[in-house]
Amino acid sequence: MKFDILTLFPAMFDGPMTESILKRAVERGLIGVTLHNIRDFAFDRHSVTDDYPYGGGAGMVMKVEPLAACIEHAKTGSPNGRVILTTPRGRPFSHAVAEGLAREEGLIIICGRYEGVDERVRELFVDDEISIGDFVLTGGEMAAMVIVDAVSRFVPGVLGSEDSAVNDSFSDGLLEYPQYTRPPEFRGLSVPSVLLSGNHQEIAKWRRRQSLCRTAATRPDLLEDAHISASDRAYLAELQKVAGSDG
Ligand code: SAM
Repeated sequence: MKFDILTLFPAMFDGPMTESILKRAVERGLIGVTLHNIRDFAFDRHSVTDDYPYGGGAGMVMKVEPLAACIEHAKTGSPNGRVILTTPRGRPFSHAVAEGLAREEGLIIICGRYEGVDERVRELFVDDEISIGDFVLTGGEMAAMVIVDAVSRFVPGVLGSEDSAVNDSFSDGLLEYPQYTRPPEFRGLSVPSVLLSGNHQEIAKWRRRQSLCRTAATRPDLLEDAHISASDRAYLAELQKVAGSDG
């Protein structure tokens, strides 16, 4: 998977792309990350990349010409790359979106700044617009990092054990169960005894119920599309009954 990132602030990517799992993935050739400084594609003496908005209003808008040249340059190295604009107006990013994007040959991600980019960039070049949440960041760099990180986890071999992606939150539509490691007791809090029992069937049942319970408590909307069995349904009904009698 090849990532091309178009940004005015390439140094922001130094840490996230050069540590831990992503660093190893790059070293092993599983992913490639190329940073393109949009300013290098400015065409005037002062390397101007933004200008006042037509029609007036606050802030500046990223100019179309440097971005067009930068995207076209990135396309020469990644001709089939899907061009993504980071924007709060985009479709919501999610586990499923990340999984879908991981099937692309490459992603060319545009990081906006100021009030955003000239609309003609979207019209001429953009295949997909992605928002990482209903809030406004100062720039698209952190959104791009989130996309690169979440998509990379679906690239075969990037995670040490393929299992960890399978059991993660959202993989079956539910939030993950609580995790524990040694010591068995800390400040009066013990690890649930079932996890120490060695009974794998009981452990799986406990984890499933914890997932259901957490999801029902904090993200009940996820239950609508989750894979729910008849026994899951019975457990959820039991939870609701208990909640009803408590209230
Ligand atoms: N004026 C824009 C609006 O109201 O939609 C916000 C521009 S924001 C200050 C600057 C840049 O940050 C955007 O062009 C985009 O690249 C990025 N950005 C901000 N919030 C984002 C979000 N929730 N998801 C993805 N990108 C975001």
